[in-house]
Amino acid sequence: MKIGIVGLGLIGGSLGLDLRNDGHSVLGVSRQDYTCNRAIELGVVDDASVKMNLLAASDIIFICTPISAIAPTLQALIPHLSPETIITDVGSVKTAVVEAVTPLWHNFVGGHPMAGRESNGIEAAVSGLFTDCAYVLTPVDTTPPAAVKQVEHLVRSLTNRVYFCSPQDHDRAVAWISHLPVMVSASLINACIDETDPIVLELVQQLASSGFRDTSRVGGGNPELGVMMARYNRDFLLRSLLSYRHRLDELIERVEQSDWQGLEQQLQDTQAARSQFFSPSVDHR
Ligand code: NAP
Repeated sequence: MKIGIVGLGLIGGSLGLDLRNDGHSVLGVSRQDYTCNRAIELGVVDDASVKMNLLAASDIIFICTPISAIAPTLQALIPHLSPETIITDVGSVKTAVVEAVTPLWHNFVGGHPMAGRESNGIEAAVSGLFTDCAYVLTPVDTTPPAAVKQVEHLVRSLTNRVYFCSPQDHDRAVAWISHLPVMVSASLINACIDETDPIVLELVQQLASSGFRDTSRVGGGNPELGVMMARYNRDFLLRSLLSYRHRLDELIERVEQSDWQGLEQQLQDTQAARSQFFSPSVDHR
């Protein structure tokens, strides 16, 4: 297939590597000449340009720009597309994107690969990023079934974990497992660096090990992406944050009251609950 990618960063670049490996012809468009040249050098695309007309003959185009640029990117693409061209996106929020884009382009299928790394930009692109990760597609009533089938077929070549849901259910779910963790992890980093004793602060940094590495990872990621998650999924994120604050208050109260039995019960419950998030047959990164 002839695949187009707009936005040659972590996600767009990683898609390009995998789709080229699968034998597709991949053309890329990005904002900067430098990024286009690096994408060609790194083997992410067969060719790249800052001009949208490069993608005129594409069968499917993945829009991989920051969330705020997805609809404007589609508007800039439209004059170059044939009506059969299928557009999909990779934005981490779906309701706002699907509502903005569907009236502009009938053949649009919203998507979100649940994969990422701390770093971003073209240099962060890696092959195999999506393997074993969930990939969500959010078609709506008006989405042409043939377009959904084509995008699903392509996405299944990246990962066998493809899920379908409404944009709203997607946003409510990712508020819990993706957007809330970014805010919680950022708060954890902030709380630690608030340590006022410089000797203890230095020790904290020296002693930080695997537990802190795991729990601080998503809070130390791309700030632009974190802001987009909050801005475009504000209501569901707020709902999750308030529920989290309630749980934190509960813990504070138990510790204040030296309620060790209650604390143990709570931690036993969470130990048991964690396994519900992960199937043992899958390596969840
Ligand atoms: P990224 O590494 O920063 O890449 C985005 C690329 O888009 C940049 O390299 C930039 O290219 C280009 N770009 C930026 N602003 C643009 C604009 N206004 N118009 C056109 N191109 C523009 O970001 P990313 O992490 O790949 O995220 C891209 C999308 O994937 C976002 O919608 C995000 O929600 C989604 N996503 C991210 C993750 C994650 O964990 N990172 C996971 C799943 C989905 P130039 O270098 O040419 O400026």
